[in-house]
Amino acid sequence: MNTGNIKPTPIHKLDDNELSFLYVKREDMIPYSFGGNKARKALLFFEEIDKKGADVVVTYGSSHSNHCRVVANMAAARNIPCIIIGPEEVSDTTYNSVLMELFGAKIITVPVDKVHDTIEAELARLRGEGKNPYFIQGGGHGNIGTESYVRCYKEIKSYEKETGIKFDYIFFATGTGTTQAGLVCGQLMEEDDRHIVGISIARKNPRGRDVVLDSIYEYLDAKAFSYDKSDVEAKTVFIDDYTGDGYGKDSKEIENIIKESMIKYGMPLDATYTGKAFCGMKDYIKKNNLEDKKILFIHTGGTPLFFDELNNWRA
Ligand SMILES: *Cc1c(COP(=O)(O)O)cnc(C)c1O
Repeated sequence: MNTGNIKPTPIHKLDDNELSFLYVKREDMIPYSFGGNKARKALLFFEEIDKKGADVVVTYGSSHSNHCRVVANMAAARNIPCIIIGPEEVSDTTYNSVLMELFGAKIITVPVDKVHDTIEAELARLRGEGKNPYFIQGGGHGNIGTESYVRCYKEIKSYEKETGIKFDYIFFATGTGTTQAGLVCGQLMEEDDRHIVGISIARKNPRGRDVVLDSIYEYLDAKAFSYDKSDVEAKTVFIDDYTGDGYGKDSKEIENIIKESMIKYGMPLDATYTGKAFCGMKDYIKKNNLEDKKILFIHTGGTPLFFDELNNWRA
């Protein structure tokens, strides 16, 4: 499967009792390995991997990582070995980690402060064996990942042109910030005006937002696209009010939103990313009186994590 034959993901309305104009873009329906933003990014990374003729893929992520699941799947489909370096601190068994095993990925868990050195050592070892390894940063970070969300932004623009709808706000879960960087770059290149609001699922400001800004500048510089720094800064809204107890940490409120979303819309959310962001978005809308605005929520995927949540309810 390559990006050439992927259709734009669906955008549809949610019948919400508080918001009369809430739409969702279903990145979870990208037709590969449960989809999600990591599938969109990985499809582009693997075009590069194929071009470079890499014979082993190395990446980083925890046992919960959607990115690692998708990368392990794409590597397995090509019969290329996949090595995942993960932090010991988040290495419990999840549906994503079971899938990584199914795909035959080699998983190396080390304490989080040893991750960097372990990656370097692995890459050096592979090169020493005459291999041609390709390293993908955790979460599919980097210009290729950013590019995939510039394309997503273009899909949103096409949808608007077709339907005559214009979204005032776009919300989504932001983590490494690549998704947000791509959307903001897309907006800068299309020169339109609207609010793109990333709801952080872990990182705090200023670092969280700085990482997004760095990704934006890196991408625009590579494209030789000229920009005004204050304009880029104004367009980069990184909300860190809803991180709760940190990465992957659930709350009763998030759990309720996940249940409600499944019952009312038939749409799975998860406790680490989409459920947390959806919950944060609702509160942000209320606090800023945005009830009459045209809202688009990007469902960034993570469906296997929904089933982990379901398991918690069963227990
Ligand atoms: C990784 C992930 C995100 C965050 O995306 P970034 O590009 O890292 O900011 C959001 N939602 C889901 C489901 C993810 O897996």
